[in-house]
Amino acid sequence: MRITRFLTAPLCIFLVATPQGLFAAAADPPALAGFSADSARTEREAENKFRAVPDRANLRQYMERLSARPHHVGSPYDRDNAEWMLAKFKEWGWDAQIENYDVLFPTPKERLLELTAPGHFTAKLREPQVSVDPTSAQQNEQLPSYNAYSIDGDVSAPLVYVNYGAPDDYKELERLGVSVQGAIVLARYGQTWRGIKPKLAAEHGAVGCVIYSDPRDDGYFQGETYPAGPFRPADGVQRGSVMDMPIYPGDPLTPGIGATKDAKRLKLSEVTTLTKIPTLPISYGDAQPLLAALTGPVAPENWRGGLPITYRVGPGAAKVHLKVSFNWDTKTLYDVIARIPGSTYPDEWIIRGNHHDAWVNGAEDPVAGTVALLEEARGLGALLRQGWRPKRTIVYCVWDGEEPALLGSTEWAEDHADELQRKAAVYINTDGNGRGFLNVAGSHTLEKFINGVARDVKDPETGLTIWKRMQMRRIEGPRGSASASPTLQQDRQDARQRPDLRIAALGSGSDYSPFIDHLGIASLNLGFGGEDEGGIYHSVYDDFYWFTHFADTEFSYTRALSETVGLAVMRLADAEVIPFDFTDFTDTVRRYVDEIERLAQTQRSDILERNREIDDGVFAATQDPKRPTVAPAKEPVPPFLNLVPLRNGLAALERASDQYDKAMNHAMDGDAAGPARASLPAINAQLISVERALTLADGLPGRPWYRNQIYAPGLYTGYGVKTLPGVRESIEEKQWKLAEEQAVRVGKVLENAGEKIQSAAAAIGPAAP
Ligand SMILES: [Zn+2]
Repeated sequence: MRITRFLTAPLCIFLVATPQGLFAAAADPPALAGFSADSARTEREAENKFRAVPDRANLRQYMERLSARPHHVGSPYDRDNAEWMLAKFKEWGWDAQIENYDVLFPTPKERLLELTAPGHFTAKLREPQVSVDPTSAQQNEQLPSYNAYSIDGDVSAPLVYVNYGAPDDYKELERLGVSVQGAIVLARYGQTWRGIKPKLAAEHGAVGCVIYSDPRDDGYFQGETYPAGPFRPADGVQRGSVMDMPIYPGDPLTPGIGATKDAKRLKLSEVTTLTKIPTLPISYGDAQPLLAALTGPVAPENWRGGLPITYRVGPGAAKVHLKVSFNWDTKTLYDVIARIPGSTYPDEWIIRGNHHDAWVNGAEDPVAGTVALLEEARGLGALLRQGWRPKRTIVYCVWDGEEPALLGSTEWAEDHADELQRKAAVYINTDGNGRGFLNVAGSHTLEKFINGVARDVKDPETGLTIWKRMQMRRIEGPRGSASASPTLQQDRQDARQRPDLRIAALGSGSDYSPFIDHLGIASLNLGFGGEDEGGIYHSVYDDFYWFTHFADTEFSYTRALSETVGLAVMRLADAEVIPFDFTDFTDTVRRYVDEIERLAQTQRSDILERNREIDDGVFAATQDPKRPTVAPAKEPVPPFLNLVPLRNGLAALERASDQYDKAMNHAMDGDAAGPARASLPAINAQLISVERALTLADGLPGRPWYRNQIYAPGLYTGYGVKTLPGVRESIEEKQWKLAEEQAVRVGKVLENAGEKIQSAAAAIGPAAP
C-alpha cells in the first residue's frame, strides 16, 4: 500500500533512536510524531500488515450475526452476543473476559396515550413488521417503544405543542402568551438531546411529555420512507433514554461507583436523574391526530413540520391522557474486555471501545461500529502471531448498556477509576458508523495526532485521503447557502491554511463520557457520516435489511473505520513519546477564552438594548393589535465580569506549551544528545498527567460527577458541548458571582496543566539556552 508522506507541522517531534538514546536526524526526518526514524519504519511495516486485514465480507457476516435478534440490556441475545465476541477475542489471541455489573434498567409495563377531547383517538404505539424485512417481525423479542428512565405516571391535561422543547422555544411561548403549566407538552425530536425535553417541560410546570418524530426532520419530507427508501415510516418510533445524564450518567443507583454485586445502592426514591414527569415517544402517525386537534395561535413558521395540517400551539380543547408504568428491575450487564499487554510500558493503556447493546436489532447503531472494532481486534491478533508487540497495553472494550445511559462504560470506568487514573493514556470511541466524511471530536491534545492518521487513510469511494475529503468539505462550507459570514470565512481560511483541521469538542451521548468527563482521560470519538441518510434511528427498522440496502451497503466505510481506528490504536501504543501536542490545544483554549469574553459582552449589550426597547414601547407599538403578543420583561443589567484569571491561566499554558516545544526541538537538534531512553517513562508519565490536571475533584457547579473543566455536555443541551463549562454556563444562567469564582478555578486548572507540561519538558532535558 502507498505510504503517504506526512505534511509535517513546524513543531512535530522527530527523534532517532540509537542504542545510547534518542538523537536528532535533520537529514532523514521520520514521518511519525513520537517515533524515532527506525521505529517509525518498523511501525509503518506493522501498520501495512494490519491494513491488509480488515475484510468487508467478515464485517458483513459479523453484522448479520450480531443484529440477527433484538439485543437490548437484559435480553438473552445481548448476553449471547457478548459471549460470541468473547470467544472471538480469545480465538484471535487476546486475553479476554466478561465483566458484569448489575444496574437499574426499567422496561415498559403499561403505555397508553389517548386524545380524550375533542373526539377520541388512541395512539397505536406499535411499529408494524415490513414484509421484505425479516427481523422487523421479531415482535415478541422487541422492546416496545418507550423512553427509558421516565417516571411512572397517569396524567390527563390539555396539550401544548412546544416545537423542539428547547430553551428558546419556551421564550417564544412566553411571547405568544402560552403557558405549559399543568399541560402535557408535545415536543418533536431533534435539536436538543431528548432528555432535555421532559426536563425543561417539567421546569416550566408541565405534567407530562410526549415526543414525536416529525416527517420534516427524518421522514417523507426528506425522501422515500422505509422500505422503499431509508426514511422514517409513519409508524416508526425513536426509542431512547431521557435520564438526566448531564447530572451523571450510568446506573442511577450507584453514582460515582461501580455497580458491582455488593455496591452500596441508593433507594429509587433518592435518585435525581429520573424525569420529573411521565414521558413517552410516538410516531408521526400517532402524533398527527393530536397536532390536528390543537387550537390556539398558529405555530411560528420555524416550528411547523411536514404534516399536512396547520400547526397550532394550543392550549385549547385538545386534551390527552398519558399513562406509563415500568418494571423497575435490575439487569446484568456484559462488558467484553480484552487486552494485549504492552511490552515496554505495560502500565500505560490505550483503550478503545464501542457498545454492543442496541435498542432493538441495531445494525447501524451500534453494530456497524462494533464490527469495525472486531476486525481491528482480528488484525491486531494477526500481527501478534507474526511477532509484533505493542509497547503500551491495548485494552478493547465492547460495552453493554450504552443506549439506556452509558451504563457499561460508566460502571466499568467507575469500578476501575483508580487504576485508570494511573494508567489510561487515551480512550478512542466509536458508536455505529455510516458513509461519507470522517467526523472527529475529542481532546485537542490529540488534534495533531488524529490529523496525521487521517492523512494516511484512503477514502474508499473517491481515492482521496479521508483527510483531503474532510478538508475540501470544510472549504465548501454549508451547502445551499453562499453565505460569506466572517465565521465561515474564518473556517475556510483555517481549513486551507492551518496545518491541522480543527476537531470538535466532545459533549456527551456515547461511551467516551466517563473517560473524558469524569476521569480526565484524553479521548477521541470517530465515525464516517454525511452521505448516509435515513430515519430508522432507535427503531425496529435499524436492522440488517435496512443497512445492507440503504447505508454502507458495500461495507467499505465500515472497513475504512476499522483501518482508521486500528492505525490510531497502533500508533498510540507503539510511539516512544505519546504524541500529545499542546500547540493545537492551547490555540483551541485561547478560542474558548475569547468566546467567553465575547459572550459576557454581548449578553450585557443585548440586555441593555432590550431594556431600552421595552422603555421605548417598541414591543407594544410593533405588535399586530389583532394578534397581541407579550412583551419580554426587563432584566437586571449584568455587571462587567472579571475574567482575567482565565487570561492568566491561558498565558501560563502558552508559556508551558512553548517550553515543551523548545525542549523537544532541542532534544532533536543537530548533534545534541536527545532525551535518553531512560527518561522516556518520566516524559510519558508527565504527559499522561496533563490531561488529569484538567479535572477538579469536586467537579462542576451542581454536578460533581463532571470533573473535566474544559469539556462537558451542556446542562440544557445534553449532547451539545459546553467548553470551559463552569464559567460559560454560569454566565448563560446569569449567575455573575459564580461565573467569577469559576473563572478563578478554571484559571488555576490551566496553570496546573501548564505545570505538568513544564514537567514533561523538564523530563526531556534542558531546553536550548
Ligand atoms: Zn449507539
